[in-house]
Amino acid sequence: MGKLYVVATPIGNLSDITFRAIETLKSVDLIICEDTRVTKILLDHYEIHKPFFVINAKNETKKIPEIINKIEQGLNCALVSDAGTPCISDPGVRLVNSAIANAIEVVGIPGANAAVMALSIAGLPTDSIVFEGFLPQKKGRQKKLQELSNEERTIVLYESTYRIKKLLEEINQYMPFRHIVVARELTKKFEETWRGTASEMLSGIEKRTIKGEFVVIIAAKDFKCRDAIHGDSTE
Ligand code: SAM
Repeated sequence: MGKLYVVATPIGNLSDITFRAIETLKSVDLIICEDTRVTKILLDHYEIHKPFFVINAKNETKKIPEIINKIEQGLNCALVSDAGTPCISDPGVRLVNSAIANAIEVVGIPGANAAVMALSIAGLPTDSIVFEGFLPQKKGRQKKLQELSNEERTIVLYESTYRIKKLLEEINQYMPFRHIVVARELTKKFEETWRGTASEMLSGIEKRTIKGEFVVIIAAKDFKCRDAIHGDSTE
């Protein structure tokens, strides 16, 4: 019986990978990824040459039994995603679940995660947090925002280039005076962090670059804004 390694990869900067992750990727028989083009950039950088197996939302029902079969035959496999920690707003949960159901050992190799990194630089309480990932795009979105406006924990959201302005407008509508932290392009060349209210961010939106990947952290309902530092910090 082989093992399934769940390996965290960088969220931008290729140096943000652990020695153990590299050793694991070098030692396994097969690398299971979302997109071979993305994973190949990382593997080429570290001169790792292994066969790939692609799983994504479209093909996983068909492919998972094949992977389970390979592990049962003795192959060690590493699951990676395009960025950060697999299974965190990324594919892999069904594979891990299936491995557990088949008594296959699942070994986590920890590393980068955009939500945790953003929390670590937000300067907001982290003793109690709620991770919502991507909000629903249509159905249930307004209801979720309404619920979050009463949330007593620090809220962590993921957002893409396409909807960040819309999300700031919605936060402004549902939580107008709330302190928020927007972390853009973490670990990458144009990394920056915005701090303040959604309204403050929207008022200067035309001066900001709103392209890239974003983590949005919203302070808890009773967080006192005067305790927070406002303004931008750019690497
Ligand atoms: N598995 C990943 C992780 O561990 O963070 C998350 C994958 S999810 C499909 C992609 C989302 O994560 C992006 O839309 C963005 O919200 C966030 N994200 C990933 N990389 C980021 C980065 N370098 N800076 C800011 N946000 C990032």
